[in-house]
Amino acid sequence: MNLHEFQGKQILSSYGVRVQRGHVANTAEEAVTVAKQLTEETGTGWHVIKAQIHAGGRGKGGGVKLAKNLDQVKEIAGQIIGMDLITPQTPPTGKRVNKVLIAEDVYYPGDSEISEFYMSVLLNRATGRNMIMYSTEGGMDIEEVAEHTPHLIFTEEIDPSVGLQGFQARKIAFNLGLSGGAFKEMVKFVDALYNAYVGCDASMFEINPVLKTSDDKIIAVDAKVTLDDNALYRHADYAEMRDVTEERPIEVEAKAAGLNYVDLDGTVGCMVNGAGLAMATMDLIKYAGFEPANFLDVGGTADAKRVEIAFRIILKDPNVKAILINIFGGIVRCDRVAQGIVDAYKNMGDDIKVPIIVRLQGTNADLAKQIIDESGMPILSAIEFQEASDRVKEALS
Ligand code: GDP
Ligand code: MN
Repeated sequence: MNLHEFQGKQILSSYGVRVQRGHVANTAEEAVTVAKQLTEETGTGWHVIKAQIHAGGRGKGGGVKLAKNLDQVKEIAGQIIGMDLITPQTPPTGKRVNKVLIAEDVYYPGDSEISEFYMSVLLNRATGRNMIMYSTEGGMDIEEVAEHTPHLIFTEEIDPSVGLQGFQARKIAFNLGLSGGAFKEMVKFVDALYNAYVGCDASMFEINPVLKTSDDKIIAVDAKVTLDDNALYRHADYAEMRDVTEERPIEVEAKAAGLNYVDLDGTVGCMVNGAGLAMATMDLIKYAGFEPANFLDVGGTADAKRVEIAFRIILKDPNVKAILINIFGGIVRCDRVAQGIVDAYKNMGDDIKVPIIVRLQGTNADLAKQIIDESGMPILSAIEFQEASDRVKEALS
């Protein structure tokens, strides 16, 4: 689950990570109110207005702007709220901005002693360990740094049995070229950041930039936080931070129905039980010369109700030209699944306008094929993988 910057900063702050302080606002008027409040709390006269969307690169797209007085706060917040912000990480049409973060200006005017660093915490799947990635080249596109100057990106792996060690945090501060007060601050920052990562069951933190101010404070100016969905049951307060307006509506609906659905760009809709079979089915579609329109794992209980919900979700995608149902009947018997498909088809009547290819394999597969063939419905059945692939080809050519 992705969070907004302001939510990520709330979590970081609760673990003692120093963050650029701010308050969120939904309207230009509210922006002025919270800006005044922020001035009282921090003494800042200048504010940064930051669009809150689930995508980075906002600065480049005009979603991060400096306001030097309250009139400018109102004007800029008014411009940003409601805009469709286009950044390298949004869809080409952009993302609608519903909220802004009014933050203290931490780049003190005329300041030449500041530095921007990059820091992320993530899992290295190859070694099964968390690692901290960091670079002196903060504030810019880290992909560019990785491509052109990879030697400027460092990594520090953490042994899960002992956690982040003091010498590691010091090494990071050292490699970032810090000394004196800034060095000590960075050690504290890294330590708190790692505690936060583990404590909130995150799967990714990306802080770009981490700022060193002229008075040697280390501050998280940005916060991209992804939490592990599978651990959310341990964090009811974080689960409430989910912003479904940022997610694809079709995926939200599928999730509510307990289906594992990922929208893709192709034309062949897939309905499969089990993630492994779903991947194999997508390969099969590609092998037949087409592209899958989605990944969809209906899980263990492929009854009529679930099949129907899955049908409806797949059919919401206007690109779908055919649907391939590929179900392995292990615990669930194929004939019952077949009946479920036929019932769902009957229920949906005219809503289904694309060819359906069904491959059922496993317990009672022959009986299942018979049910489908005898249903009188325009459903093509197959038992072998190759057959299914041929049917898809026939249906689409
Ligand atoms: P991103 O573009 O989505 O990664 O958003 P960031 O939060 O990283 O902000 C983009 C850029 O805005 C930063 O790299 C900074 O250069 C700038 N910025 C952020 N906070 C401040 C601030 O307090 N003062 C000034 N002058 N610039 C800021
Ligand atoms: Mn950033």
